[in-house]
Amino acid sequence: MEREPRTSLPVPARQTAPVAVSVPALDRVLALQRSAGNAAVTRLLARSPLADQVKAAPDKGAVFALLRKQGGPVTDADTISAVQALYAQGTDDRWLADQLVTYGPEPLWPATALADRSRRSTAGKWAPEPGNISAVIAPPDKDPDDANAKPVVAYFFPGQSERRALIIGGVHGSEPQGVEVVESLRGELEKACAAGKPPYFTVILIPALNARTRGKSRYVPRDPKESAKQTLDQGIEPNRSFPAPGEDYADARARVAAGKPELVYTPPPGQKMPAATGHETSKMLPETRALIALIERFSPERIASVHAHGISAGDAKVGDDPGIFVDPATDDAAAGEQLGKRMLAEGKAHAGQLPTGRKDPFRGNVGDSVTYDPNAPHARGYSLGSWAPAPTKTRKGISTVTVEVPQYGGDAAATQQVENLDRDILLNIFLGPNPKQNP
Ligand SMILES: [Zn+2]
Repeated sequence: MEREPRTSLPVPARQTAPVAVSVPALDRVLALQRSAGNAAVTRLLARSPLADQVKAAPDKGAVFALLRKQGGPVTDADTISAVQALYAQGTDDRWLADQLVTYGPEPLWPATALADRSRRSTAGKWAPEPGNISAVIAPPDKDPDDANAKPVVAYFFPGQSERRALIIGGVHGSEPQGVEVVESLRGELEKACAAGKPPYFTVILIPALNARTRGKSRYVPRDPKESAKQTLDQGIEPNRSFPAPGEDYADARARVAAGKPELVYTPPPGQKMPAATGHETSKMLPETRALIALIERFSPERIASVHAHGISAGDAKVGDDPGIFVDPATDDAAAGEQLGKRMLAEGKAHAGQLPTGRKDPFRGNVGDSVTYDPNAPHARGYSLGSWAPAPTKTRKGISTVTVEVPQYGGDAAATQQVENLDRDILLNIFLGPNPKQNP
């Protein structure tokens, strides 16, 4: 976002007698200062192009769009008074404008404000709104690594209920199918919301989390100047850059303040430390920081992360083939398991529409199991699926679904069809719409 430049005139010191100046604008300032005092002068000098745009906006939709476009809280006093002059206190319009001034666009709002928004929009029956409200999610702390990352862009869609879900793609840049599924879902949600048929869940989408690796690599370069081969051999595995289960962002930061590594890995009881792969990190990526900040603010009850997976030769491998897998919230495991099973059932019910000769897109769900193989080897470091489901002192556990879209090589038609299938599972089951079907 770019703020528009503001013309700044020198502010004269308080004066007892007028001074001769040749600048007409400054004459007006001084005349006003004599008649109205310094506060009015300060306001006049602070007049911003944004305030003028707000006053000239043709309707409230244009005003809200202008405020959202700032990409963050609005601090310019002139714009704030222009907005407040437009809408009477106590109205929904004034409330929405005040939230946009305070927090910026909806992806930056705390969960309490979004819950209030949901109650107001359904109670007051707001006109259908297409959603698709974007914002860049910044990491909470400045870090030298930030310069190497691309912005994390999130999109908000209002739901029929206060319940909140987060869907991300592009954790791994080598899995473009995941990004395509979430982008396609973004288009479908915009159409549905504009038509007055929003999903049951209020949702934020992040189509391409680690955008700097998109179309390039699974791993994140340690140094932007390293070769593709070096990244392949020793790049950071982005899905092993989360704090330990039970830890908040602040807990990991507290370790840094105490002179310790930000991330630590402790094998589960009875297990040895896994062999190093070269892809470990002791520090969160900037994109991971931004994602965690969003999760802690937005407080979703469920997360879906859309990846892509090759198809194994020979027998299907439990949890290591295309399919739908869930890490249930550890404080509500039954609901998480049920969500995964319903998504799988929906997928299987429609998989017959895929081209013949394509292997089962859910072949990793051996025996309709939606859990990972508990004996599978683990890399060092915690994934989103191990961090999010564990409750912390500030939030509940979050059931985390991993969708592994099958990789059909160069078969564009089959790829399109299976991506649409996974998109529709997310739209129809993960996001609702029927609350009775959303335990
Ligand atoms: Zn992946």
